[in-house]
Amino acid sequence: MDFIDLRSDTVTQPTPEMRQAMANALVGDDVYGEDPTINELQELAASMMGKEAALFVPSGTMGNLTALLTHGQRGDEFIVGNKAHIFLFEAGGASALGGLHSRQLLNMPDGSLDLDEIKKSLRSNDAHEPRTRLISLENTHNRCGGTFQTPDFIKMVVDFAHQNGILVHLDGARIFNAAAGCNVPAKELADGADSVSFCLSKGLCAPVGSLLCGSEVFINRAHHIRKQLGGGMRQAGVLAAAGLVSLRSMVGRLHEDHARARRLADGLRNCQGLQVEYGDRSTNMVFLKVDDRLDLSTEQITSRMKERGILFGEVGERYFRLVIHYWISDEDVYKVIGSFGEVLGIS
Ligand SMILES: *Cc1c(COP(=O)(O)O)cnc(C)c1O
Repeated sequence: MDFIDLRSDTVTQPTPEMRQAMANALVGDDVYGEDPTINELQELAASMMGKEAALFVPSGTMGNLTALLTHGQRGDEFIVGNKAHIFLFEAGGASALGGLHSRQLLNMPDGSLDLDEIKKSLRSNDAHEPRTRLISLENTHNRCGGTFQTPDFIKMVVDFAHQNGILVHLDGARIFNAAAGCNVPAKELADGADSVSFCLSKGLCAPVGSLLCGSEVFINRAHHIRKQLGGGMRQAGVLAAAGLVSLRSMVGRLHEDHARARRLADGLRNCQGLQVEYGDRSTNMVFLKVDDRLDLSTEQITSRMKERGILFGEVGERYFRLVIHYWISDEDVYKVIGSFGEVLGIS
């Protein structure tokens, strides 16, 4: 059966145009800086983020880890939301491999951090305390509903950080969804950040790869850290070729995914027994809570939907995440709405 796969936008397969570009890619040894396709991708990525330089890395996790290890020394503290991907889902790499100490602040429901809480969490010069080195923000915020953070919020945090000698890293895994959500160029969302990482392999459909962007000096140092982490690749221009298609043809269509996500959310709101989370700041993710009045377990709901050819993520007890991406059509959206109606009606 061909599933309607809403588990994540990471499940996206490369497009025929990408496969063609991969087959035809010019390549070289990228550890020597000689892969023309990677160089082209890095230049394009840097210019789209408004930064001097960029580095191609195998994953978003390695992009974030490389950034944190480049910015901080062992024992330094970085401020991060308690629902941040870096904190929850990156296997504790910053601590395991970089000796970095995380300071977790509560994420607001919209994924932002409270500036007053940030202010309170800064360390003094006292010899007992670690040094506050960096603030890490996430945009869009995955665990807070795929919400986008506004340019104003980012500017506020960046200004405060820089006034206090602190760096800012932006985990922009889905920064182009954020940009489409608030209708500004991505570089506006990265403005002032000392580094920004983003993924090619999510809504942008490339099979592999992320980019880390920042100043020339920062990227030169990050290059060294990437090598330490084992992320120096050789003729990876075959991957970068798909990434170039992502940046040239997939960025501009993300608003279509958001429109479908909204259609899905609106349709599901008509199903008795579902609480639908999709707001003004939402992008390509719809979250669903199943009402306590319905006597269906998490497992029953997932398996009955699977029988109907539909997959999605479980993020809690009777709490689900549905992610819209390039390979989900309007027809799929209507089938998902209809199937939820059937499954929830069964009880
Ligand atoms: C997906 C994701 C990443 C990186 O994930 P990889 O699977 O390592 O590419 C980082 N941050 C956020 C917010 C993400 O959603």
